[in-house]
Amino acid sequence: KRRIAVMTSGGDSPGMNGAIRAVIRMAIEVGCESYAVLEGYEGLVQGGDLIKRMDWEDVRGWQSEGGTLIGTARCLAFYERAGRLKGAKNMILNGIDALIICGGDGSLTGADKFRTEWPSLIGELVKTGELTQEQIDPFKQLNIVGLVGSIDNDMSGTDATIGCFSALANICEMIDKVEATAASHSRAFVVEVMGRHCGWLALMAGVATGADFVFIPEKPRSENWRDEMCKVIARHREIGKRKTIVIVAEGAHDMQGNKISSEMLRELLADKKGLALDTRITVLGHVQRGGTACAYDRYLATLQGVEAVRAVLDATPDTPTPFIAINENKITRKPLVQAVLDTQAVAKAIENQDFERAMSLRDTEFSD
Ligand code: ATP
Repeated sequence: KRRIAVMTSGGDSPGMNGAIRAVIRMAIEVGCESYAVLEGYEGLVQGGDLIKRMDWEDVRGWQSEGGTLIGTARCLAFYERAGRLKGAKNMILNGIDALIICGGDGSLTGADKFRTEWPSLIGELVKTGELTQEQIDPFKQLNIVGLVGSIDNDMSGTDATIGCFSALANICEMIDKVEATAASHSRAFVVEVMGRHCGWLALMAGVATGADFVFIPEKPRSENWRDEMCKVIARHREIGKRKTIVIVAEGAHDMQGNKISSEMLRELLADKKGLALDTRITVLGHVQRGGTACAYDRYLATLQGVEAVRAVLDATPDTPTPFIAINENKITRKPLVQAVLDTQAVAKAIENQDFERAMSLRDTEFSD
């Protein structure tokens, strides 16, 4: 029987458990054996108890559990060839030749590197006497399929990542809560949300909550963003709005690349010579990731998990490593390397203050 393993890596996101459940059950359904690699790449490098056989009932009820129940980690050893060599050995010792990884662009980059290096890794294991030729013969090819688990929705080539809609729902719920107190006291709140290179959460939360102003990394405000923001908020106050909500992504900055921090915004809103608003900062932090997945993420994780197993079964040595995407409501397979390169190109463009390029590389249309 063919053995397929599933792993979660990088930051956790709601819906990862739904993806694991779908992979494990689909693999069993099509006559394969299912395995879980615990603690991300650490489990692959260390092997032993961290590579675990999974049965149908082992994942019962996992749809409604937050985070990832098989653990995740950042693993320094896997950046090095020596770590990947250990990983290859542990895969072969467990008879596994297919790995489905749910993680962000970093995890998926590592996965593709592992697959590309696989022939030379197993060759070296034979040369150094760690494995015999007979042991590696059935494992000439490594199959890798990516699932994107990320709350940021920062992966190019897919409309949504597993977890992003749950995080968005969490943010909206928190903003609704601060709005109640904002309106009661006629206060302003600066709400800081996650997103170092991707403003999807901030922007969507802005639309969903009717925020007064939003700052995202891809589209810095004009030179005089201070006046612009104050004017908009003053107008909203004039027409009777008692609450002010400004959403700032953690990676927001101005045209010169200077960070626009929550504290900077608070000072501006509270400035006695200006709006003079009683202003508080709420940094949402890890509550954004927290809790169980929303219905959409459970559905996405399940459909994509099933598709990932199908992609493993369809793979040929010449198929480029795929990841499972969703485009215009259809589950699709896309080349992983291109999507990772595009994702990293956005981050690079933002770092280089080439915002036009960053915007053109994003799938979402942004406009004022
Ligand atoms: P998040 O979006 O939450 O940051 P991520 O998957 O991008 O998730 P990373 O910390 O970049 O998170 O990567 C997770 C792990 O994947 C790393 O700790 C490392 O073990 C492995 N990894 C990442 N990049 C590479 C790489 N270039 N080569 C080998 N392994 C890598």
